[in-house]
Amino acid sequence: MIDKQFVKVLVDIKHMSLDQTFDYKVPKDLKESIEIGQRVLIPFSNRLITGFVTELITHPTYEPSQLKSIEDIIDIMPYFDKERLNLATYLAKKHLRPTINYLNAMLPSALSMKYQTYFKPLKQSLNEPLKTIFKTQNKVDKASLNPKALNAIKKGLLEGSIDIEHTFQQATKIKTIPYLYLKDPLKVKGPKQRAVIDYLNNHGPSKMQTVLKAVETSASTLTPLLRRGIIEKHSKETLREIKAYIDEPDKKVVLNTTQSTITSQILNTLNTHQEHLIYGVTGSGKTEIYIELIKAVRKKDKQALVLLPEISLTPKIVARFKKAFDEPIAIYHSNLSIGEQYDQWRQVLKKEVHICIGARSAIFMPFDNLGLIVMDEEQSASFIQRDNPPYHTKDIARLRSHKHRAPIIYGSATPSVETFYHAKKGEITLHTIKKRALNATMPNIQLINMKQEFKQGNPSIFSRLLQQKIQETLDKKEQIMILINRRGHNNFVICRECGKRIKCPKCDVSLTYHKHTNTLKCHYCNYEESSPSNCPACHSPHIRFMGVGTQQVENQLHKTFKAAKVYRMDYDTTTKKAAHEKLIAAFEEDGDILVGTQMITKGLDFENVTLVAVLSADMALFVPDFYAQSETFTQLTQIAGRSGRRSKQGHVYIQAYDSDHPILDDVLNQSYESFYEREIAFRKRSKVEPFYHITQILFLYKTYEVAYKKALEVKRYITSRSDLNILGPSDPKLNKQNNIYKVQLIIRHKDDGKIHDILEKVHTYFKDGVSIQINHYPKIM
Ligand code: ADP
Ligand code: ZN
Ligand code: ZN
Repeated sequence: MIDKQFVKVLVDIKHMSLDQTFDYKVPKDLKESIEIGQRVLIPFSNRLITGFVTELITHPTYEPSQLKSIEDIIDIMPYFDKERLNLATYLAKKHLRPTINYLNAMLPSALSMKYQTYFKPLKQSLNEPLKTIFKTQNKVDKASLNPKALNAIKKGLLEGSIDIEHTFQQATKIKTIPYLYLKDPLKVKGPKQRAVIDYLNNHGPSKMQTVLKAVETSASTLTPLLRRGIIEKHSKETLREIKAYIDEPDKKVVLNTTQSTITSQILNTLNTHQEHLIYGVTGSGKTEIYIELIKAVRKKDKQALVLLPEISLTPKIVARFKKAFDEPIAIYHSNLSIGEQYDQWRQVLKKEVHICIGARSAIFMPFDNLGLIVMDEEQSASFIQRDNPPYHTKDIARLRSHKHRAPIIYGSATPSVETFYHAKKGEITLHTIKKRALNATMPNIQLINMKQEFKQGNPSIFSRLLQQKIQETLDKKEQIMILINRRGHNNFVICRECGKRIKCPKCDVSLTYHKHTNTLKCHYCNYEESSPSNCPACHSPHIRFMGVGTQQVENQLHKTFKAAKVYRMDYDTTTKKAAHEKLIAAFEEDGDILVGTQMITKGLDFENVTLVAVLSADMALFVPDFYAQSETFTQLTQIAGRSGRRSKQGHVYIQAYDSDHPILDDVLNQSYESFYEREIAFRKRSKVEPFYHITQILFLYKTYEVAYKKALEVKRYITSRSDLNILGPSDPKLNKQNNIYKVQLIIRHKDDGKIHDILEKVHTYFKDGVSIQINHYPKIM
């Protein structure tokens, strides 16, 4: 039994210089309830702030008489256990960010504290202008004061006529609703009052609203009952319900032979940290395997975590999971409201829910007995959080898998080259499914050369063949999906005479044209200007807005296929909450054509879609990025996989300018293996994943020269102390942002942890002046 006399507390201030714990005394009355992982209120340099208890200790570092005491415990339930505290420490050390950033990332944002400052007069008689400020109130909120009033207050504080009060509030509270309880069923006269008592007698404690509705009366009926103590009213905690707009039909699934073989092979490794890859074509029934595995894990009373790359884009998968289990499932992603996230998270913390489906942040769910982690579409870049704070979901999944002895299941039709490489080497168990479940055949894919199309006199965004196929599909009352590749396809403005693009004056990237406001915007710094009619460089009137947008394609479809019902899914049509889900439901119900960006490539399983088209498929290949090819291959394979998922044959038409590109060949042949062979050779030549890991050290400063010089210094320092291979200093893709210059060093290394010590030293020794950022998952190109 530890004598809980002292605790170590990590303060909730996001700064590297404060990234350490401080010792505090525990006052007598808090000793019983204090625990590791709780948030506490502590005095810290003359104010009260929040912090996390990371350790209970008997021997503090300093003389106990010098220590301050904890003021209060904020939460009764601890939010962290040792496992997740250690995880935060590990991540902080690896990425050189404050530990507190990771602790906060692990909690729903509803729990972040709102600090407020109030001022109160200490004297009866105040002089102007203080008198006016406190005329109608005896306490004012700092946020409500203008600079002049603030100045007056400051004077008052110095004179001792004004006092400060700080308050803390959690950003979002637990939602409660009033419930009525029958206490003493005395005789009452009024018929409505009697009806209330009868209702409670029959139904037990009930929501106040429900009672009032059932009895058809208003709250005033309750007043005498409450006063006489016949009934009581109490607030009861309630969950914010996440509305679902998609319902999946009930269906009985019996796994086929391939599926059950894989399932039992994986079940043999429960209670180990084995990693598995289910490499199965689109529609091969991977999701059904996950469901079966989780059922087995639940039978053993363990918890399961399913990670989906863009879960808000895949409500149908969520609906399938919900249908498959008799128990509640927590959903966790950033498209939920702060309150909803909080409720989902709290149910897991309280062990009321044992299965969670979520986006990358769900990897931090407070499970304490995990039995399985599923990462569907494991190749997705959305499993990487690049900053604030940076982490790779896989990195954390592995740590948690070891800790809990819970196997990890990766699933994909187009695994990342890294994962497939490790699977081929036997480090990850490989399970292959070549055929679709439900006997559906793979879609038919055809490539259309758009250069030729243009030469032959068709300037339209649709080739003639595609137009014809769309019409045929409409006639058969089958559905169509059209993907517009937006990557590398910005709506930038180009001058046809001098060839110059219009760039952001602060950031050195192309400005993007926004039609509805007729402006040009910078997507990095929000700079905005009205769109010019002449080229700013050569004054030519022949400037042109490049790129086709979803809206343009939608308009074109309306014109060409007048009777068709077209839905559009892109960033603009899905900003409202659940808009995405409603759109999917609507398209499934009565749509003919769904036009969309990358959003439509993932996880959608429509029975009646038999035609999929991709416009300008090769644009994304022009993005100068090592991973552009794998991303394009994945995306095209994914979207092709949306077609013909049931009994009808699916067709896919891919329009491209550079139609000879080998990647398009692989897509056409639906050959992941041939893509893999070429790609792995390319990665080996380029010295990137899985052969080398790339870490970027970024130097940020208001002048380029100073940042550059610092980068050189650091390079010399590292070279003199290690044999690491360093490139640079060089300019990153975006080398100036908000008038801050960036210079980078690139380190290629075997990702074996050796780099961490030297980076930590760099971070400590070179911290003055130029700010240094370490990025293990940089967007470099
Ligand atoms: P994937 O996750 O590999 O893309 P899904 O699990 O979505 O594949 O399977 C495609 C379709 O086939 C889904 O509608 C799914 O319910 C159905 N399905 C898969 N396996 C079976 C099975 N054994 N019995 C009945 N239906 C199945
Ligand atoms: Zn010009
Ligand atoms: Zn800018």
